[in-house]
Amino acid sequence: MFEPTTPIAGHGNVKTSQVAFLGLGHMGGPMAINLAKAGYAVTGFDVMPAALENAQAHNLATAESAAEAVASADVVITMLPSGKHLLDAYLGTDAQAGLLHAAAPGTLFLDCSTINVDEAREAAELAAAVGHRALDAPVSGGVVGAEAGTLTFMVGARLKDFEAVKPMLEVMGNRVVHCGEPGAGQAAKICNNMILGVSMIAVAEAFVLGEKLGLTHQALFDVASAASGQCWALTTNCPVPGPVPASPANRDYQPGFAGALMAKDLKLALNAIDRTGVAARLGPLAAEIYGRFAAKGGAGRDFSGIITDIRSSSEH
Ligand code: NAD
Repeated sequence: MFEPTTPIAGHGNVKTSQVAFLGLGHMGGPMAINLAKAGYAVTGFDVMPAALENAQAHNLATAESAAEAVASADVVITMLPSGKHLLDAYLGTDAQAGLLHAAAPGTLFLDCSTINVDEAREAAELAAAVGHRALDAPVSGGVVGAEAGTLTFMVGARLKDFEAVKPMLEVMGNRVVHCGEPGAGQAAKICNNMILGVSMIAVAEAFVLGEKLGLTHQALFDVASAASGQCWALTTNCPVPGPVPASPANRDYQPGFAGALMAKDLKLALNAIDRTGVAARLGPLAAEIYGRFAAKGGAGRDFSGIITDIRSSSEH
């Protein structure tokens, strides 16, 4: 069980972890609030006034600038939209001082955003070059998991750094997996979500084919869920209403996991495929399919809503 007085490893003289939390959006807001509720001294900052005001309404201490938030921090957590946002924040822009220089030497930088593997490695190298430590810890579990403190963290970090932040991650999540060195958390996240995107398309196509062949949804579900077609996309996030009452299909595809986020994660997987030269065919195809889904009205719908596109594009 976490005690607020637990020192961060490598900061033996620090009795209470001072946390700067940057990016108080849909995910970062509730994560920061959960940390503060658990006894950490959290100072939040966001470039959007509305996000700052929302955090303040939940009694989170906030700073006037990112530099002010990190100046006295032992740990800097970021939850930002993209790798460009992260690298700009670390290095600074005309509008904002760079966090790596604003922070005291030896600060632990923990990025929970979902970004390219290469960007995560670059961020860690930039931090190390000026005497900090850095980890990537992207999450799954969505806004519901962020609010409930039940996220899964996939962590890319040196073991010592992983152990230092693990108690903190266990406040915000209920599953914390050390995946390897910096960048490995992002790698695990995009590989997992590539499986998810491809498998959801396969499940949705199978249901539409079943419909054409006169098979009821329930019959296909009863067979496949107990046979070799079994997967999360079928048994938890079933794209047709009925067989799994809690799946988004039963509430007109309200997310859940939004199509925009699936499209984003598959694009990150595609970037990694291109860079590594892997002979993948289904991953890039899934990226294209979800890119189109997100661009044509599916961005805010659950990704299982892809079945409606497949059905409406099917002849007869
Ligand atoms: P969001 O857009 O709601 O929040 C991001 C916040 O970062 C915004 O409030 C923005 O103003 C702020 N920001 C941008 N640049 C900043 C800077 N330099 N300093 C301080 N704040 C800054 O996005 P979100 O849904 O919270 O997602 C955050 C990250 O988590 C993304 O990388 C996303 O892919 C990932 N993620 C999201 C979900 C989800 O369900 N929303 C699930 C898993 C992972």
